Amino acid sequence: MKKASADGARMVTLIPGDGIGPEVIAAAVAVIEQTGVKPRWDTQIAGMTAFKRVGNPVPDALLRSLRQTGVALKGPLETRVGEGYRSINVYLRKTFNLYANLRPVHSFQGVHTPFRNVDLVVIRESTEDLYAGIEHEITPGVVESIKVITARASRRIARFAFEYARREGRQFVTAIHKANIMKLSDGLFLKCAREVSAGFAEIRYEEQIVDAACMRLVTDPQAFDVLLLENLYGDIVSDLCAGLVGGLGVVPGANYGDKGAIFEAIHGTAPDIAGKGLANPIAAILSGAMLLDYLGHPREAKRIRAATGEVLQSGGTLTRDLGGIATTQQMTDAVIASLRTTASSAADHA
Ligand code: ATP
Repeated sequence: MKKASADGARMVTLIPGDGIGPEVIAAAVAVIEQTGVKPRWDTQIAGMTAFKRVGNPVPDALLRSLRQTGVALKGPLETRVGEGYRSINVYLRKTFNLYANLRPVHSFQGVHTPFRNVDLVVIRESTEDLYAGIEHEITPGVVESIKVITARASRRIARFAFEYARREGRQFVTAIHKANIMKLSDGLFLKCAREVSAGFAEIRYEEQIVDAACMRLVTDPQAFDVLLLENLYGDIVSDLCAGLVGGLGVVPGANYGDKGAIFEAIHGTAPDIAGKGLANPIAAILSGAMLLDYLGHPREAKRIRAATGEVLQSGGTLTRDLGGIATTQQMTDAVIASLRTTASSAADHA
């Protein structure tokens, strides 16, 4: 991916996506622009929307835009189970070598769950493992799906996790695995993580078997800080972690490579509520805050996090998934109103 800019504003590919995507992405764009940062959005269709319109879920125009901008804000894309093309998300991550999927998970005051003070980060390798998509039928009734783990990708994601921990002042990294059963593949992943950990003396390194880690996450989530996982365990564990803090509607995400990044909430297209104005926009809005950090606007990103935190804490404007009755638009308006208040009080004190 190449980065391009014109007229001073950074160009960002905008993929509204399928299902609830267009609703939550519109919310994220409105909130981002309220901070005063106005990227040049290059809007592109993808997924089922593109398939229906141009017969291709990954149109050339989308790939061209991503190559040019190197950065995207993206809604969820629908991939039909067991049909035609493979997951477009997997395709984009592999095509642009976005090897690190990062999902910060922390408790919000005002969002009621049985868990308190959760503050962890899921870092998931996202180019290989069972997602390599190598499957074949040996004979009718017998299929094989190949799990691919390489030292190169394992070292690269471990380094990403430790560098992130160092940069963000995190205390420890836990590699999560099933090396007691998958001795070669998960064994290699662990070996690489151990080697990389040796270069980060100030960050503690731990290991846990994935099933035990899942139980610990729901009995003692404070026992985790940065979680380092292969692709499939990362997918499953990050949804579990979202459940600790209020569900899929509040957890943002980002896919990083060495030359680009795509920012997207962890939730899918939620077809049951699509087009009804019921989707929680917070996950997409917080993914927008991660985009602003990446674009070099940490102050604005912080303001968005503070505004969403305030709206959730006040409890007056919550979408249905959080126990409220607010619409997507009402929740977005509440975040924007909170941003306006902080902007005017900052101006009063200037
Ligand atoms: P996909 O096949 O695209 O992954 P899905 O319906 O299987 O879609 P998700 O969209 O991730 O899976 O979510 C599962 C359910 O969680 C949804 O059907 C919806 O009820 C709820 N949900 C997900 N995201 C949100 C959101 N942003 N706001 C409110 N509810 C949500």
